[in-house]
Amino acid sequence: MSEIQNVIIIGSGPAGFTAAIYSARANMKPLLFEGLAKGGQPGGQLMLTTDVENYPGFPEGKTGPELMELFRQQAARFGTTLLVQDVSSVDFSKQPFKVTSDGKDYFAKSIVIATGASANWLGIPSEKALQGYGVSACATCDGFFFKGKEVVVVGGGDSAVEEATFLTKFATKVTMVHRREALRASKIMQDRAFANKKIEYVWNSTIDEIKDPSQKKVTAVVLKNLLTGQKTEMKTDGVFMAIGHTPNSELFKGQLDLDPKGYIKVHDGTCTNIPGVFACGDVQDFKYRQAITAAGSGCMAALDAERFVEGSHG
Ligand code: NAP
Repeated sequence: MSEIQNVIIIGSGPAGFTAAIYSARANMKPLLFEGLAKGGQPGGQLMLTTDVENYPGFPEGKTGPELMELFRQQAARFGTTLLVQDVSSVDFSKQPFKVTSDGKDYFAKSIVIATGASANWLGIPSEKALQGYGVSACATCDGFFFKGKEVVVVGGGDSAVEEATFLTKFATKVTMVHRREALRASKIMQDRAFANKKIEYVWNSTIDEIKDPSQKKVTAVVLKNLLTGQKTEMKTDGVFMAIGHTPNSELFKGQLDLDPKGYIKVHDGTCTNIPGVFACGDVQDFKYRQAITAAGSGCMAALDAERFVEGSHG
């Protein structure tokens, strides 16, 4: 068996790198799997955002990729071993825990899972082509760029209503496009949205196409009425998807307790159902989903892992 690590961290967003910074500074010599683009998004969702202006400590803001590079450098500076590889399987059934990547087995006394979540997308080609050019899945991140413009929000849940309401601070008009004719969002949030004069609604509809990839900007959406099949074009400057997130927890199915939507269940901070396996960031958080909250829970997971290793094997 190869060397047994104190802690293996899986994931390279704000949660994973913060866990690495804390573990490395505690002399745990962490090994961190960053992942590859094909298996997810190394650096996490911030790699898909432009300016991050709400991460404390950077009054001028940073781009998402710049911020993640700083996180990465800080983790490396204190001695984290970074592997740009995807984890293909894990075995948490006995100590030491086993993590397999690129056909090689790695062993550790504790594990920190920080694999994040991915925004759901409609799956139309123009949406992919215009990501970062007016198509976004994060109003908190990108809303500011739509000052004085018109935007569309897709979805009818709490996120969609929250994003639409937030976007009215910048946009002159926000059109919510929902596939049914009733919102799923909580009553209080619906009331707030219905009272907001800047929000309009297109019911029983979805987006068939976003124009115009050839101009590298959003100019309009083609709406499809799901009851009649009729298509209409509507001018807009931006499209925000708010049709839910999927936690990146596939790897842990059958080994860790997940909630019905696939989020890893945690208790007492970052503990999963297996002692010594901890989860932090968006893979266990469907509520806050911010870089700063992910980083905070990454710190918690590192401290929990350190205490576990000291307690069990110290
Ligand atoms: P959600 O509740 O699952 O809502 C997703 C919305 O997207 C639904 O309206 C759904 O339509 C629509 N949708 C899904 N797939 C679609 C597709 N392919 N095409 C078109 N529309 C599609 O997700 P969420 O709003 O992100 O919320 C997730 C959880 O976080 C919820 O439990 C929510 O309460 C919570 N949350 C709470 C707050 C808050 O309290 N402040 C804020 C945000 C989120 P249908 O309605 O037809 O299914």
